Amino acid sequence: MADAIDLAALVDAARSGQARAVARLLSVVEDGAAQLPEAMAALAGAGSGVPIIGITGSPGVGKSTTTNALIRVFRERGKRVGVLAVDPSSPFTGGALLGDRVRMSEHAGDEDVFIRSMASRGHLGGLAAATPQAARVLAGVGFDVVILETVGVGQSEVEVAASADTTVVLLAPGMGDGIQAAKAGILEVGDVFAVNKADRDGADATMRELRAMLTLGGLEAGQWRPPVVRTVASTGDGIDELVAELDRHQDYLRESGEGRRRRVQRAVAEVEGLVLGALRRRIDPERLQSLAARVASGDLDAFAAVDQLLD
Ligand code: GDP
Repeated sequence: MADAIDLAALVDAARSGQARAVARLLSVVEDGAAQLPEAMAALAGAGSGVPIIGITGSPGVGKSTTTNALIRVFRERGKRVGVLAVDPSSPFTGGALLGDRVRMSEHAGDEDVFIRSMASRGHLGGLAAATPQAARVLAGVGFDVVILETVGVGQSEVEVAASADTTVVLLAPGMGDGIQAAKAGILEVGDVFAVNKADRDGADATMRELRAMLTLGGLEAGQWRPPVVRTVASTGDGIDELVAELDRHQDYLRESGEGRRRRVQRAVAEVEGLVLGALRRRIDPERLQSLAARVASGDLDAFAAVDQLLD
């Protein structure tokens, strides 16, 4: 199927705003199709300054609702918004994610908003490699801001969050989120924190608990101090403050050089992942088996086996 795609035409169509062309390009990424290198080459250099905003937090905390509210603000600013909802726990495209349907209904028909759930169906580098590439596709075809919403919790979510320039961690009162977040290492990846559902009891306590946890680490001079904002995503309260903090963080990334440092670090991880994938593909499984049998019987040492395999 992938062989039939005229990539140059597809990229042109995507740049002219055709949602179907954007979706097909993202499928090339997800499938890890043979044309993926060609697709990435066609997009290289474009959209490198587009901010990638990550939204993360436990299920039900209000990520979809917050994403929806952010889309609204960015649209008011005249920006084209691309959204990727990534589920690290599922190998399949969700497609029917609840949040997606909610958002679709509000922004359906707005051709300057593109929303898509994604999974790494065949991508050798997994979601960790597929996500930054998919974000680059959206930036490269002309979206002015990319929102990466992760679904689920845990280590893989932290990895996906690492694909963003600015990561927003959402918590809500009374969900035991503070403790969960610390466990998942999510406090370290948060650039901006929002205590959502601030209309509920316990918001003040959650704010206090979170602030206390964030100051534990201590800060060096000039370092970014992650702010904590209160939001009620369902009414839009606090969303302007959240956006102001996102803007402030983007300024910080630019002025401190941290943004560039993060992008380089991400590229290192991406290239490394692809190199390992390429190496793995080059290994002949039968040859590996026979060499391994010799290693096991003491006939060959493991390092010599490596040399022979890579030869
Ligand atoms: P997600 O699973 O993190 O994407 O959470 P959703 O955005 O789907 O929200 C889960 C539920 O919480 C939905 O029923 C929302 O309407 C509701 N919700 C979201 N934000 C708020 C809020 O600030 N206050 C209240 N009371 N409910 C909210």
